[in-house]
Amino acid sequence: MTETLAPLSAAVRPVFDTVVARNAHEPEFHQAVHEVLASIVPVLEEHPTFVEAGIVERLVEPERQIIFRVPWTDDNGDLHVNRGMRVQFSSVLGPYKGGLRFHPSVNLSIIKFLGFEQIFKNALTGQGIGGGKGGSDFDPHGRSDAEVMRFCQAFMDELYRHLGEHTDVPAGDIGVGAREVGYLFGQYRKITNRHESGMFTGKGVQWGGAEVRTEATGYGAVFFAEEMLGTAGRDIAGMRMGVSGSGNVAIYAIAKAHQLGAIPVTASDSTGYVVDDHGIDVDLLRQVKEVDRARISAYAAARPSARFVEGARPWEVPVDIAVPSATQNELDEDDARALIAGGVRAVSEGANMPCTPAAVSAFQKAGVLFGPGKAANAGGVATSALEMSQNAARQRWSFGDSEARLREIMQNVHAAAYSAAERYGSPGDYVVGANCAGFERVAHAMLAQGVI
Ligand code: GLU
Repeated sequence: MTETLAPLSAAVRPVFDTVVARNAHEPEFHQAVHEVLASIVPVLEEHPTFVEAGIVERLVEPERQIIFRVPWTDDNGDLHVNRGMRVQFSSVLGPYKGGLRFHPSVNLSIIKFLGFEQIFKNALTGQGIGGGKGGSDFDPHGRSDAEVMRFCQAFMDELYRHLGEHTDVPAGDIGVGAREVGYLFGQYRKITNRHESGMFTGKGVQWGGAEVRTEATGYGAVFFAEEMLGTAGRDIAGMRMGVSGSGNVAIYAIAKAHQLGAIPVTASDSTGYVVDDHGIDVDLLRQVKEVDRARISAYAAARPSARFVEGARPWEVPVDIAVPSATQNELDEDDARALIAGGVRAVSEGANMPCTPAAVSAFQKAGVLFGPGKAANAGGVATSALEMSQNAARQRWSFGDSEARLREIMQNVHAAAYSAAERYGSPGDYVVGANCAGFERVAHAMLAQGVI
């Protein structure tokens, strides 16, 4: 990320300067904090008690950060050492909650930006969950199942002591799917001798997992797009949708788009993208990415209506809706301009912070409906909270009931962001709305619970 961040108002600039000074070399964390601080000035003006209680100064400092060594051996008997981390950002609304990311790019800046965003995202869902995030620079790609298992066990050998259903409840993120969650949960159970279902979400549905959790982030991002478009008097049916990524979020955004009568035409990975004017075939995409764990070009090779474009991003394809679902800062200002020129009407962030600040501003200036990840991808963690409820009650809800709840939660998240944007003088700005609505909830709770 090379973009410079816009100047902040005097009310929040000192906090930001301290964040930058104290956390040098953490550009993604700076970016995430900057966006929230730029949004919440009107909330601070309306609530002087938040300023007196140092709410913002406290929020930007994680409650706890854990960094640990993860040694493991590969199938040849060679030793590897990775770095593991968990940033426990805020537990004011509930146990720390947020995923684990296993990817070679993982560093403290990335985990802190994700953990910080998670506080407000989780607050926005209206559920009792705090914010945290963790992960490792381990790369599961190309590793055997046995190697992934040994890594997960070594990772949990340390992390287990910091987790628990009332303390900190991880889930998946990039590089942590059903396989990794199984190994991580299994090791926790072995070490602690407790089958503590609610200490991890995203579990297999046969052993405590919730229906719809796998689908929830992608489904939710499309529901959010549907809500934004509906508010603007438009119907999602018949619209062409551009999706980036080919992981869990992208796959289920594509699936839901089909169900709602939209036409999802792209998917991507780090090697390039595929475009399929007949609509991406979800079963084939799942086969390529989840079963074969192959590159996206294999999709085009197996599908006559599709073509693979190497080394490029999907945003050059004209679409009505864009759902960036790969990773942070994957869509820059040039990509935004290409989408705008192609007639895009709505952007719903399936990933966390996929659009750069200049891209967000370009969309908003062009009048494109823009749903920030904090709101648009909140369906994943919201369904994790439903999983925790089911675990606590030893219940299992049906797919239909769970999806209906997810849809209602996304409608509520949309309504909360929409109305906060109006209340704080930026109608239609879902970035301001999501940040203000999430922040208000966290700040009131912090005020009530004292200086801790
Ligand atoms: N990693 C997901 C997110 O970014 C889900 C977290 C969870 O379910 O705890 O929100």
